[in-house]
Amino acid sequence: MTKIFEMDCDNIDASDIKYCGTILRNGGTVAFPTETVYGLGANALDSEAIKGIFTAKGRPSDNPLIVHVTKAEDILPLVAEIPEVAHRAMATFWPGPLTILFKKSALIPQEVTAGLQTVGIRIPSHPIARAVIEAAGVPIAAPSANISGKPSPTIAAHVVADLMGRVDAIIAGGDCEVGLESTVLDLTGETPMILRPGGITKEMLERALATKVLEDPALDKRSMEGVTPKSPGMKYTHYSPRAEVLVVIGERSSVAMKINQMQQEYIKEGKKVGIICRDETCSLYRDAVVKSMGMANNLSMMAANLFKILREFDNTDVDVIFAEGVEEAEVGRAIMNRLIKASGYQVMHV
Ligand code: AMP
Ligand code: MG
Repeated sequence: MTKIFEMDCDNIDASDIKYCGTILRNGGTVAFPTETVYGLGANALDSEAIKGIFTAKGRPSDNPLIVHVTKAEDILPLVAEIPEVAHRAMATFWPGPLTILFKKSALIPQEVTAGLQTVGIRIPSHPIARAVIEAAGVPIAAPSANISGKPSPTIAAHVVADLMGRVDAIIAGGDCEVGLESTVLDLTGETPMILRPGGITKEMLERALATKVLEDPALDKRSMEGVTPKSPGMKYTHYSPRAEVLVVIGERSSVAMKINQMQQEYIKEGKKVGIICRDETCSLYRDAVVKSMGMANNLSMMAANLFKILREFDNTDVDVIFAEGVEEAEVGRAIMNRLIKASGYQVMHV
């Protein structure tokens, strides 16, 4: 039986939070909102509890989990060392959507890190996430609260659709502000390296850390062939709606022309077409289910809407979705990373 607790940030129910904290401390699973996406939490120091997360999500066991705490000092027992550059990253971006990889301490069970010697840690800013972690009194491992392979949940209804009956409790606490998962930053090597792009961008990190920040070369590959990403989760098919997804990249009018042309071919075959576009380009499309991510100059809004839109297409009968590519600067990098993965690397340049 899954208990559902409804609350919002301005109205956090202390007794419900306390109850959820007890579930977590006792080895159960609780889904809760964070500023990135909804997370499915369990006690990060309890191997059996961690197995509950993998079972509920159907997550491959070689995909490590991010550990969430509420104060910088909480990481001390969890890590073997804190490099100087990490202090700067923590001071600038925590609480917030940045996961930092550290060398792990012996306290972190192998199940959390999928056997790796590093652990990803984040301090969320979302008041409900913070309250429930504090109530648990233990560090909380929490991957996104979706069935593995589906788009990460950014509203409570997504979590209920995926995990009802599979977890002990769900805190339905409104919409997630960022809408994409955290940036994963590896600080265990010589040069900081982004393993997963997110709301905290390379540009922001380079400014704050006053150093060059690399990106995992695997992120630039447009197919999975011959690539081993350093972040194990990046190798799986992800964020996939039921329909096939195709990303079209290029100059705005050529993209629209190509999509319209391909749409006609699909329609001739009796297929239904969906299109993911920007407010500015919506009017260029007809005879399709058209969904806009938002205004082209508002990357944060587009990021916040992307997963919701991908899931909305599951409630339509479209067979194929054409997605307009966005410029890969700032948060656009993360948007494209998720879109391309949703497409299973079906990308077309025009
Ligand atoms: P999720 O919490 O569902 O967003 O997934 C966590 C992501 O963080 C996955 O893509 C993992 O591969 C990545 N991650 C977590 N811990 C590590 C680690 N120790 N090394 C590399 N990647 C990690
Ligand atoms: Mg996930």
